[in-house]
Parts: sequence; C-alpha cells; structure tokens
Amino acid sequence: MRQTDQTAIVLRHAPYRDNDRMLTLLSPTRGRVEALARGCRRPKSPLMSASELFALGDFDFYDRCGRMTVTSATLIETFYPLRADFDRLAVGVYLLNLCEAAAQPGQGCQELFMLLLHTLSRLTFSDQAWKPLLAGFLLHFSAINGVKPRLNHCIACGRRLSVSEQVYFDVAEGGLCCHDCRAPGQTALAEAQAAWLRMALRSGSSAWINTPDCYAPYTLLRHFVESRLERPLRSAAMLPKDE
Ligand SMILES: [Zn+2]
Repeated sequence: MRQTDQTAIVLRHAPYRDNDRMLTLLSPTRGRVEALARGCRRPKSPLMSASELFALGDFDFYDRCGRMTVTSATLIETFYPLRADFDRLAVGVYLLNLCEAAAQPGQGCQELFMLLLHTLSRLTFSDQAWKPLLAGFLLHFSAINGVKPRLNHCIACGRRLSVSEQVYFDVAEGGLCCHDCRAPGQTALAEAQAAWLRMALRSGSSAWINTPDCYAPYTLLRHFVESRLERPLRSAAMLPKDE
C-alpha cells in the first residue's frame, strides 16, 4: 500500500451535532488524531464513506488552534467484508480500540499502524483462523509498546530455558518462569505454546497465521495486554469466547 503523510485509519466515530462526526484516527506520522468530519452523515457527503469505522484513506486536515477538521478524504479501503462475520467484526473493533488506547497525539506510530493494517487485511480478506491472528497481534502490540514478554530466560532465576522444559507464563512479570521458580497464579504452557510464542515474536505475521488455534495462547495474551491498559476495553466483552 502506498502511504503518505495524510494516510490514516478511522478508529472511532461519535455523532456530533446533526450531521457531523468526531473521528478518532490513527496516523503513522501524527499518532492519534481527533478531527471533526463536517456534514459526513448527510447522504451524498464526500466524507461519508471515509468517516466509517475501519475506513483507511488519505485525509486532509485544517488545523485551527489545535482543533482539527477533515477538509477532504480519499478512501483507500473500507474493509467492508468484515461486517459479514460477527466474530471477525468483534475482533476488528477490539484491534481498533487497542490502538486507540496505545497511540498518543503527536507521536508517530508507524509500527503500530502497519501491524493494525496487516492484521485487519488478513482478518478481512483471508479465511485464516482469527485466534492465532489476534494472538500474534497482541504479542507484537505489547512489544511495540515496550512490554515485550521475556521468553528465553526464567523471569525469577535468569536461567536460560530449554525448548523442551515445562514453563509457566507470569502475566504480571511479563515472561516465562521455570518449574523450580513457579509461583501461584502463573499459567502452565504446553511445549507447543511456548514454541509458538518464541516463533511469533521473532517472525512476521506470515509465519504465525497458519498455526493451529491451540498453539496460540490467545486468552493468556489478552490478559497480558489488557492488564496493562489504563481502563478496560468495552469491546473485549464482545469477543468470541475461547472454547
Ligand atoms: Zn527459574
């Protein structure tokens, strides 16, 4: 995808006056942007499609004393097919909410932007299972936000962990623990799950998406990421249950 200084994706919209919306956008160069889309709820408004959730486009802004208004928008992608599958739509909204929570106004977030775009594209246009996709997103999301889980050494004794030994994930400490140092509240991981975490963290999304659901500790990674947010995400309650 070509990307310009104007490229952004709509993370949230809220009604504003009769025909307007306040948009929350993620821009790789500007971070989180709040901007008013005037008249976008009128039929035939040129801003209508670009003011929907997930809309990816090039947005022109008018900045008046820090209050941004969208003056024009060129739509690149709507991710429309997401709306046809409730589970995948719920995952998509959850991804948007996580990015909104992590991005800061005025701080570029190229890596986060690309992670969101790649994940949304696969969620929308491929039939790959959503659990490993979301688990991979959560793992890389935490790394981008400076809380990369420690997977190669025990968080308590520092000993290098072998690939075949029993390990435990500690959500609060953010890493794996060996059998000798294990503590209450930690989650025992199957060997395949620990291997999946290490593989997914060092590879791009093409490597982790085709793994069986059971290898990707998706619920665990949700706890890991959500426990570090300032406030709970309402969309988390909409996610499909983990069987
Ligand atoms: Zn240890």
